[in-house]
Amino acid sequence: MKAQHIGERDEWTCWLCGHRVDPHAPAGSPSSPTVDHVVPRSRGGSNDDTNLRLAHRRCNGRRGNHLPELDWPDEFGLLDAPPLWRSLRHLIPSESGRKARRRSKRRAARKRSTAADQGLVVALAPTAETAEAAGDWAGDAARRFVGGTWTATTEATGVGDCHVVRLTVDGPTLDPGRPVD
Ligand SMILES: [Zn+2]
Repeated sequence: MKAQHIGERDEWTCWLCGHRVDPHAPAGSPSSPTVDHVVPRSRGGSNDDTNLRLAHRRCNGRRGNHLPELDWPDEFGLLDAPPLWRSLRHLIPSESGRKARRRSKRRAARKRSTAADQGLVVALAPTAETAEAAGDWAGDAARRFVGGTWTATTEATGVGDCHVVRLTVDGPTLDPGRPVD
């Protein structure tokens, strides 16, 4: 069965809460193993193993088609931060984007010089410390969500102690999916 296969691969650890999943929990119970889609089907996620993770039924259900693992935690007190999922979409070239770029080398050069190389400002934090913590959190959340190697840097804005958080990505990632209306 699929859950068995994904469970063994994921070492019976729930990718959402990080706790152990009992392979023998009664089917349909809140702690039973389920297969979750990293990018939900409704957002264009595939049934490919790379898009599948082991999750408790209760964790999977709570998540639904939302992406709560990409919600910025309140604790950083960020002054401004678009939804992280939207930022990831800007940072990760989509398959259609890749095709369009193959068609236009000039556009490729322009695009490469923006998000991919220099990263993207993903948040504005009130202090250097919170910017650093938010960057660590965002890099980790992005890696868990789509893979890849994420680097967060912070920069002073010159306004008070405000710092921006910038993310860059390297290596292969999953497509973060498409918007849902
Ligand atoms: Zn769980």
